Amino acid sequence: MSKLTTGSFSIEDLESVQITINNIVGAAKEAAEEKGKELVKAGPTLLPGLESYRDDWNFKLLDRYEPVITPMCDQCCYCTYGPCDLSGNKRGACGIDMMGHNGREFFLRVITGTACHAAHGRHLLDHLIETFGEDLPLNLGQSNVLTPNITISTGLSPKTLGEVKPAMEYVEDQLTQLLATVHAGQESAEIDYDSKALFSGSLDHVGMEISDIVQVTAYDFPRADPEAPLVEIGMGTIDKSKPFLCVIGHNVAGVTYMMDYMEDNNLTDKMEIAGLCCTAIDLTRYKEADRRPPYAKVIGSMAKELKVIRSGMPDVIVVDEQCVRGDIVPEAQKLMIPVIASNPKIMYGLPNRTDADVDETIEELKSGKIPGCVMLDYDKLGELCIRLTMEMGPIRDASGITAIPTDEEFKNWVTKCADCGACMIACPEELDIPEAMEFAKEGDYSYLEKLHDQCIGCRRCEQVCKKEIPILNIIEKASQKQISEEKGLMRAGRGQVSDAEIRAEGLNLVMGTTPGIIAIIGCPNYPEGTKDVYYIAEEFLKRNFIVVTTGCGAMDIGMFKDEDGKTLYERFPGGFECGGLANIGSCVSNAHITGAAEKVAAIFAQRTLEGNLAEIADYILNRVGACGLAWGAFSQKASSIGTGCNILGIPAVLGPHSSKYRRALIAKTYEEDKWKVYDARNGQEMAIPPAPEFLLTTAETWQEAIPMMAKACIRVSDNSMGRSIKLTHWMELHRKYLGAEPEDWWKFVRNEADLPLATREALLKKLETEHGWEIDWKRRKVISGPKIKFDVSAQPTNLKRLCKEA
Ligand code: SF4
Ligand code: SF4
Ligand code: SF4
Repeated sequence: MSKLTTGSFSIEDLESVQITINNIVGAAKEAAEEKGKELVKAGPTLLPGLESYRDDWNFKLLDRYEPVITPMCDQCCYCTYGPCDLSGNKRGACGIDMMGHNGREFFLRVITGTACHAAHGRHLLDHLIETFGEDLPLNLGQSNVLTPNITISTGLSPKTLGEVKPAMEYVEDQLTQLLATVHAGQESAEIDYDSKALFSGSLDHVGMEISDIVQVTAYDFPRADPEAPLVEIGMGTIDKSKPFLCVIGHNVAGVTYMMDYMEDNNLTDKMEIAGLCCTAIDLTRYKEADRRPPYAKVIGSMAKELKVIRSGMPDVIVVDEQCVRGDIVPEAQKLMIPVIASNPKIMYGLPNRTDADVDETIEELKSGKIPGCVMLDYDKLGELCIRLTMEMGPIRDASGITAIPTDEEFKNWVTKCADCGACMIACPEELDIPEAMEFAKEGDYSYLEKLHDQCIGCRRCEQVCKKEIPILNIIEKASQKQISEEKGLMRAGRGQVSDAEIRAEGLNLVMGTTPGIIAIIGCPNYPEGTKDVYYIAEEFLKRNFIVVTTGCGAMDIGMFKDEDGKTLYERFPGGFECGGLANIGSCVSNAHITGAAEKVAAIFAQRTLEGNLAEIADYILNRVGACGLAWGAFSQKASSIGTGCNILGIPAVLGPHSSKYRRALIAKTYEEDKWKVYDARNGQEMAIPPAPEFLLTTAETWQEAIPMMAKACIRVSDNSMGRSIKLTHWMELHRKYLGAEPEDWWKFVRNEADLPLATREALLKKLETEHGWEIDWKRRKVISGPKIKFDVSAQPTNLKRLCKEA
């Protein structure tokens, strides 16, 4: 393709689209630069309370994106008046109706997620201040806008660990108010629970931001680093000949002591340390600011927890907090794996050895006298876990433990299956275990092997099997070869998007010529196995979207390779750029994804962040193409992260299991009244296209999700080239994955320049014949038809107060 600086471009025979536009010299950029930095004047919502965004912003969002309630059960059992039958939207004894209660249930999930991140942040903040002092400067890379979420909510721009404290206190203060609202006889209107949930979502991103910026600073994590090192990931990467310390959870503080002890004692190449869930991501960010070769590894997502234990590979397991299985102690005990609980949120009823002597505790654990212990003293934790691992390795080897069934045991178990179907009914993924067992009886193990990737390792099937078949072990036994080949690469969590990257991409994003930010995040409760997120990421990367990822999604994306044996992290650059794949970090790093969108408004458009959430969100909703994907969302945290994106005007697609959250936000595309905003130049109403058409919704299959996401990146303010590019991608993807042209493509066409270049002629014909638009065929121009006119200087906003002459 030729290089263009000005004018128009055309592409013949457009098939697999790859459009790269690096620099566009235009009026918008000059205007933004000329505007310069204005004196900061705070917005109207510094330190907001539960009601602050309600009328000005949340109700506007909820008017267009209406709550869709899908109750998980007909009852409420919150208080002793109940349980109350709420079926048919009846009211409970306290007066709340079914809709209100389900709004409350969704709200409860959101505040629980918010609290998880906030508690994580508080723990890290206190611990790091105690260790490094209040004055440690926040060091997050090349950025002036360090804390967009904190600044939006509090007006503060902390520069040191100590200066983060007021923001933390603010979040905790609000969480108390929010939790009180769950009590019986508080709010009863569904819509007000939604507004409160949205508010909590904004707090969640503040709490996440706090968590990540303090750990990036104190633990020398990569600082907005597009070349953060590649880390080995997968069960197949563990060297079974070495003692293996397995850490599970989210809070990396304790793990840093283990790694320090390993380094101080030259053990980094003599044992394995690897993690599951976000702790895994954060421990492989530790001291990686200088890109040293990583020695720690990542096992995988929460879905791998029980699988790795059942494999018998770990010699010691250390748990901290969040998304940690509740059956780890009995499961580990069967295989002589001591469990150390290092965080007071999960103590498993284990004896507390925090004040005990390390040598004595090691003896107790080694001998099997106790299955595990609580250890909350980090100095002791580091030594205890590493020494115990080094000693347990040979002990467990010598004990001859066989975790996975032998060939003979396997055959015996398979033969026992009575084909009763109970396991399939119990399985949350509805996996056809009976069929796989039948084939296995005949010596064909491929069906069992196929289940491995889809199975989330929950063992619900085992509990209902009357023949007491250890079904998970059977699946894992059949999949041994596949497991040994589970070797991928994940780019270490890179942290924030730098101001420089925002400057480079801001204009393109706002014009739409960069088709959007695709954020693949969240948990591993996928409908059909882990590879979906790989396919989705690859499709958007090839089409030059900016792809960012975090958490379990970031892991699974790195688990697959192309025919040349390359992972997506190797094939695509790690910058926040078109066709770039940036692993932002663990789940708390999601704050940097909203942060990036906020920084587009702050840096590119020079909008005020301080106390100004509604304006920033309004800007993003109208101008910054972006769509989140939490394909396997399972946790309460996923609901709060998504809700935080929503209040900021960022839509998100969730996997099919997510309808169990009870509440979606979907607009009625056919109601014209819902698609009007104000033009800030004069306060007059202007029509907008139905984009995005949801804020929170579910898709059934990954093939359905892809065009949905591409479409969700269309924005009111796309310029013609941007709209044309976005329509090209969406329409191609719709054809590719759903087999047909979308029905409503014409709704996004304001003039001929919005049309995809390669098919412009044919589409003009369709507009004429199917929609009655008038076309000037000589000049290939639209004469009449579109309901929405393109106006390059329009200022669309949902906030009347931002309009001149409002
Ligand atoms: S909170 Fe209300 S609806 Fe729920 S059980 Fe109590 S009385 Fe019934
Ligand atoms: S362990 Fe796997 S197969 Fe068994 S119920 Fe859970 S997801 Fe289904
Ligand atoms: S529950 Fe047990 S016996 Fe029944 S089909 Fe499943 S594996 Fe076979």
